[in-house]
This record gives sequence, C-alpha cells and structure tokens, in this order.
Amino acid sequence: MILIDGKKVAAELREELKHEVTGLKAKYNKVPGLTVILIGDLTPSQIYVRNKEKSANEVGLKSEVIKYPDSVEEKTVLEKIEELNKDETVSGILVQLPLPKHIDKQKVIETIIPSKDVDGFHPMNVGNLSSGYESSVPCTPLGCYLLIKKVEPNLNGKKAVIVGRSNLNGKPMTQLLLKENCTVTITHSKTKDLKAECLEADIIVAAVGIPELVKGDWVRKDTIVIDVGINKTDKGIVGDVDFDEVSKKAKALTPVPGGVGPMTIACLLKNTIECFKRSQI
Ligand code: NAP
Repeated sequence: MILIDGKKVAAELREELKHEVTGLKAKYNKVPGLTVILIGDLTPSQIYVRNKEKSANEVGLKSEVIKYPDSVEEKTVLEKIEELNKDETVSGILVQLPLPKHIDKQKVIETIIPSKDVDGFHPMNVGNLSSGYESSVPCTPLGCYLLIKKVEPNLNGKKAVIVGRSNLNGKPMTQLLLKENCTVTITHSKTKDLKAECLEADIIVAAVGIPELVKGDWVRKDTIVIDVGINKTDKGIVGDVDFDEVSKKAKALTPVPGGVGPMTIACLLKNTIECFKRSQI
C-alpha cells in the first residue's frame, strides 16, 4: 500500500512556490500578497490562520492578518473587503470561516472580488470551474487532486466516487476529476448503497465528517483513497476512512493527520500566486 505523504508533497510544493515567488519578485519588483480576515477567537480558526501566515511568509509572500472581535458589525467587514479589493498590494483575500451568526457568509464571499478570491468560493469562480474556464479552485479539493495525480498521473476513464457533496469539498472535487476525464459519482447522506458505490471506484474521496465511515470491505485492492475528514474523537483526530482497515486493502491512502491537511495550506499559497500572476497580465 502506498501511504500518500501529504506533508512531503506539500513541502515540495512550497519549495516550488518559493522559487516562483523569487522569480516574480525579480520580474515585477513586487511579491504576491495574501490578506486573511479573522473574526472572533475560535481556537481552531486562530491555529489555521497562524499556520497560513507562517507558510505564506516561508514562501516569500507578503502576508497580513486583520483581526476583528466576535461582535464586529457585518458592515465593517464588508467595507474592509471593499478596501482590500482596491488595494494593489493585495493579490488574495481570505475570510476565515466559520463566521459569527450575525454575519452573512454568502454576502462576505460575494463581496470579495473574484480575481482575489483565493478560496474559490465566489459564485463566479464556482461557475468558471464548472464551465472549464480558468478560476481559483477551493484549496482542499485542489490539494486532493494534486495528491491523486502523484499516485496516478493519467486519470482518463477512471471511476471516481466522491463521498459528500459540500460546496467546499465534494462539488469542486467532482469538477476537477471530470476535467481529467474521470467518470464521477457524487454521493451524499441520501445515497442508497454507499458501500456498493465505493466498491465500483478506482478513486474514492471521502469528505463527510463522520469518523471512519469508509470501511475496509468498501474498497478494492486497486483503489486510491483520499481522506479529507478531520474528526475529533476519544482516540484523537481521525479521518472519514477507517485507516487500519483500509490501509490493509487499498492501493494508496492518505493518513489523517499528514495527508490532505498540509496540502490545503500549500494550495492557498499557490492560489495567491496564481491570482497575482493573472493580475499582471
Ligand atoms: P459538510 O459541509 O458537513 O458536508 C458533508 C457531506 O457529507 C454532505 O454532503 C452530506 O450529505 C454528506 N454525508 C453526511 N452523512 C453521510 C453519509 N452517511 N453517507 C454519505 N454522505 C454523507 O462537510 P465538509 O465541509 O465538506 O467537510 C467534510 C470533512 O472534511 C469534515 O470532517 C471536515 O472537518 C473536513 N475538512 C478537512 C479539510 C482539510 O484541510 N483536510 C478542509 C475542510 C474540511 P448531505 O448533503 O445529503 O447532507
């Protein structure tokens, strides 16, 4: 079984991006800039943002974190986004989710100008991705896609089963694999026989949020399994795939932690650089 080392692949990607930033600096005499807006004091969000800032600095991006208390008015956040939209030193804007209840997530997403939407959540980017045009692609599915391609560069005609249909993971994952000529089945909580669907798959991407849902007898020996899940349990953090069982069966599997997680941040940096490059044309 191939244990897909997301930490290693992410470190290699960051190294490539670092070289790219050096080249861009030499060419344009400026570097891409990432601005993250963090609202409230949720510990996981603070940790994610700290890691994003650290990684951005490591590859040579200009990075800035703007913090607001939980009580911040929606209007203040939207005005700040409008200001950042116009700021030429800012290539990418990310508002860390989740947001406090009184702030409309969709309004926030739609206020970020699509050309700086490094999360790829703006409807314009969602539409461009599904139409096969150039767009920012949500960081986690992009990371999954790059990991799959490491194991299997030619995905032509492969059967992929995506477990979970969220806007964040399942749906963009589907688009990325369709573009690679996979035959994609997207499953969800109302799917009748998930095990039978998974047994058809050359590639399974599990993004559900249910600890160890995908079992050993759901996969074939030639299946590549990507585990997006991050679930806190009594035995620690586990994925949506039963690692002990599936690692004995599958062709390749990502661990949790150390699989998809590190790729998400590396892809955020990649997206920021892509936004910068498109803005220079
Ligand atoms: P989400 O928005 O809650 O969506 C979960 C999806 O799973 C829904 O489409 C739901 O179906 C489906 N589902 C629920 N129960 C199911 C079942 N029994 N069988 C089949 N499908 C089922 O979740 P998400 O935001 O995509 O996140 C999924 C997981 O990924 C979470 O553990 C999250 O923490 C993790 N995550 C990891 C990263 C990373 O960087 N590694 C990034 C983001 C998220 P319905 O649509 O029918 O409700």
